[in-house]
Amino acid sequence: MSTQRSPGEWEHLSCPVCESISFTRLFEKGGEPFARCDHCSLIMINPRPVYSDIIHTYTHGYSTHYIDKHEKKLRRARRMVRRLSRIVAGGRWLDVGCSAGFTLQAAREAGFDTHGVEVDPLGVKYATEVFGLKNVFLGSLEERKFPDGCFDVITVVEVIEHVPNLNDFCRELKRVLAPAGLIYLTTPDVAHWRTPRPLQRWEAVLPSQHLYYFSDATLRRLLEKHGLKIVKKRFNLKPGIKVNVTHAGRPA
Ligand SMILES: [Zn+2]
Repeated sequence: MSTQRSPGEWEHLSCPVCESISFTRLFEKGGEPFARCDHCSLIMINPRPVYSDIIHTYTHGYSTHYIDKHEKKLRRARRMVRRLSRIVAGGRWLDVGCSAGFTLQAAREAGFDTHGVEVDPLGVKYATEVFGLKNVFLGSLEERKFPDGCFDVITVVEVIEHVPNLNDFCRELKRVLAPAGLIYLTTPDVAHWRTPRPLQRWEAVLPSQHLYYFSDATLRRLLEKHGLKIVKKRFNLKPGIKVNVTHAGRPA
């Protein structure tokens, strides 16, 4: 994509976690400035290109990467579904950013009623045509407007770092999660001991694509703001956060 943009196509944001407007510029990559919030330490692209520019980076090429590894992706998805179905045995499963539908296919095999949202038309096409999945919606979670509390399991795998408005997104996750429901969320871990330094060398630092770089602390703070809590964190040898999340008020 082009890095030639007029100034009017950039937006300055306050911190989506703590609302601060005070940032320290860290470095530039791909013509985009990466900055750290002076109050909560969230790292994000700020200012950033407006979302209508960013969304084009998802069409084509993004999901083809998954399609090339069909069997491997499906095996991995089945392992994840097995693990999560030991906590929530059945019901409605939503995969946010479902890509080509591997997780949904695995969840359907395990007896779940599956629903997906995906912004890449190629992913939706694959999920629908190759897996024959129903209820795969082209667009964002916020656009789909599911009923309140309708999902027993929600998977959000390597998605939250992409969403244009984190607070709208988390509000919607909270709203559509069943009272005893479980969210499984993963995202790159900027505070992991194996995260490359300087940060711009990290392969997860992706201009226009990964808009935010969470640590445990910033992710926890964002979720808590929306009445959600991390109930379990999986150990990870790679620089990634993998957590189980529930409604904050739910008894453990
Ligand atoms: Zn902040």
